[in-house]
Amino acid sequence: MTRLTVPFFSQARTFERIWPDIRSQVEEVFEDGKFSHSTRVRALEQALTAYTGARHVIGVNSGTDALALLLKACGLRPGDRVLVPAYSFVATATSVVHAGGEPVFADVDPDSYALDPARVPDGALDGTRFVMPVHLFSRMADMAALTAFASARGLELVEDSAEGIGMRQAGVHAGLHGRGGVLSFFPGKTLGALGDAGAVLTDDPGIAERVAALRHHGRTGRTLGHFPGISHESVLPGHNSKMDDLQAAILLARLTVLDGDIRRRADLAARYDRRLRGLPGITRLPRLTGAPDEVFYVYLIEADHRDALAGHLAAGGIGTEVYYPRPLHLQPCFARLGHRPGDFPAAEAAAGRALALPLYPDLTDEQADRVCDAVEEFLTRKVSA
Ligand SMILES: *Cc1c(COP(=O)(O)O)cnc(C)c1O
Repeated sequence: MTRLTVPFFSQARTFERIWPDIRSQVEEVFEDGKFSHSTRVRALEQALTAYTGARHVIGVNSGTDALALLLKACGLRPGDRVLVPAYSFVATATSVVHAGGEPVFADVDPDSYALDPARVPDGALDGTRFVMPVHLFSRMADMAALTAFASARGLELVEDSAEGIGMRQAGVHAGLHGRGGVLSFFPGKTLGALGDAGAVLTDDPGIAERVAALRHHGRTGRTLGHFPGISHESVLPGHNSKMDDLQAAILLARLTVLDGDIRRRADLAARYDRRLRGLPGITRLPRLTGAPDEVFYVYLIEADHRDALAGHLAAGGIGTEVYYPRPLHLQPCFARLGHRPGDFPAAEAAAGRALALPLYPDLTDEQADRVCDAVEEFLTRKVSA
């Protein structure tokens, strides 16, 4: 009998399942004959408008660019400070630099991993004009609390909702609680393309207009591709951050099964939860409450001996990932800000203990059980040793 292996991520079966849709979407791209910033991109923007409830969705070439263009379009001025959590994907903070600003860090709430207004350091708000919470893994930050915090201090609120597709709080989709947010369609994300792509979400027509210009060399109007009538006047020093129509085609096909994919992710998360809850050595599991803002992009546990556990799983043919091994304030690219270990203890604890288990619609129940068996094997051996 061959051993059942479990890759950290795979989407081969998902693509097989929707292959006819993908084919017809891709055929439309070839018929159109324009492969960047054309009809499939426009169709995807419209479909995402319907899915998220955003008034405007602007397709760009990555979640990282979406963040930088959103901040610029919100009027970030050179040197403005943006309050971000110390525990996130590095692009949360580097996108601030790309927009011309400077990140300022705050610690996270250890339960939700989200920026915690109660842990904002003294003096962090001097010169700070924006606050950018991040929704990580499976739950949104507490947007009612963050909105109150931002408005009491005159801060503009934008969201790094790159992981947030399908997450809603008080009926409002992630990214739409402040001035705007983003989506990432990196292949491993809940709605993944076959390469890089991203989008900005906003209800504000002025922000939408500026992002649309910034992604396309600063050109005005929401003209697309090589359509007649495009303006070649650059009103802003723009970027080339257009989305490929082939990626948009893939995403249009995947969007039709997104809700089913999200349900499958929730079922698998519940399966993990039933097996892993109460095991010795696992100090934290995701909160499985069935809250409406819950969408399982990542199933993240915290464990004693995290690296040894990952090694044990790898030896058994099971892929895992550390999200995120280095907190942002200790990244070499931010050394000039002068932070030291100990500055943000919750962020540092998470970075040292967190481990993501395989979670994606392709994963079978048998594979999920195999992961749980291997985790249990490791932990019981550790305890008896
Ligand atoms: C994925 C991600 C990004 C960046 O998105 P890309 O499309 O990979 O550029 C930014 N922030 C967070 C929290 C992410 O998870």
